[in-house]
Amino acid sequence: MGKQINVTRSSMPPYEEFIEAIKPLWESHWLTNMGKYHNELQERLKEYLGVEGLSLLVNGHMGLELGLQAFGFPEGGEVITTPFTFISTTHAIVRNKLRPVFCDVKPKDGTIDETKIEELITEKTVAILPVHVYGNLCNTEAIERIARDYNLKVIYDAAHAFGESVNGRGIGSFGDASVFSFHATKVFNTIEGGAVAFHEHQIYEKLYNLKNFGIRGESLVTEVGANAKMNEVCAIMGLCNLEHLEDAIASRKKVFDTYVAELADVEGIDIFRIVKDGEVNNYAYFPILVNDPYPLSRDELYLSMHEKDIFPRKYFYPITSDQNCFRNKYKNLNLSVARELSEHVLTLPIYEGLMEEDQRRVINSIKTTGK
Ligand SMILES: *Cc1c(COP(=O)(O)O)cnc(C)c1O
Repeated sequence: MGKQINVTRSSMPPYEEFIEAIKPLWESHWLTNMGKYHNELQERLKEYLGVEGLSLLVNGHMGLELGLQAFGFPEGGEVITTPFTFISTTHAIVRNKLRPVFCDVKPKDGTIDETKIEELITEKTVAILPVHVYGNLCNTEAIERIARDYNLKVIYDAAHAFGESVNGRGIGSFGDASVFSFHATKVFNTIEGGAVAFHEHQIYEKLYNLKNFGIRGESLVTEVGANAKMNEVCAIMGLCNLEHLEDAIASRKKVFDTYVAELADVEGIDIFRIVKDGEVNNYAYFPILVNDPYPLSRDELYLSMHEKDIFPRKYFYPITSDQNCFRNKYKNLNLSVARELSEHVLTLPIYEGLMEEDQRRVINSIKTTGK
């Protein structure tokens, strides 16, 4: 049917540029352990993201896991979160010996329904962990008001929201901490990588210990830590990609705008990416909802696209609370909106350099079936 079109493709700098950039490593022989490039990228991203504090990590998941651990919540503490996300969000809570309490999401944008948070708060609640899903931004104001009222921490999973802002304020500066992912499939990548943004210097120190075995001197280990440092090759990939980020986002924007123009009028196809006034979009994802009167169900459309060698993804299906590893383990709350969305959502191919003719094939595969 033609070449395979995947949901995403990693952005990479020109080959020569990367090779030139990693050359100094063959002189220094310094490949990891908070090297020069790790520190440079950390500073550059702090500025780019508009955040006070930032700690680079080996990936976004460890950012969530160690980011949560850095706050020192008591074992068994409850974390109010969303099941309409990548499994990593829920794993990070459970692996910290905390309990996820799943809150339903809003049908409009798939983010946590802030009006349903308060009823889930108990004396065991320690934090709220919302997700800016697809880059759709949570109602930070309402969430943080609740957190203040009940003395809870707010840690955002901002894996999808790299570079986004609200009225000029970097999204990573909201709440007590925000976690970004620089995985190969994300808007900005360091091959694998991630970061935690925060306000308190104490969190920086804590994360430093957690990501480097708690080592604070040649013969001094002050606490129990893991190993989750970003290495120098990954940091250099990040520095190179950062140079081209503006172009990468512009290329994605073109794809995004074409989808909007072409799909807006297809009956039963709703664009599920909400950008409110004052918000800056990173064009990371293009989710749609497939509903009546579109002639095919989401799953039928998904399969019919597969037959045409087009591979959109069912992000996020099933909701994490329904996954084998979590099903029936936690309170059985009403998650009907999240479940409904997960049965109708499809994220379409969008990446830097997606060719016009390939995007045309994607659009036609939806439009021609829709007639
Ligand atoms: C990608 C992602 C993560 C995990 O990040 P990794 O860098 O892949 O470990 C966590 N949460 C969400 C919502 C993600 O999309």
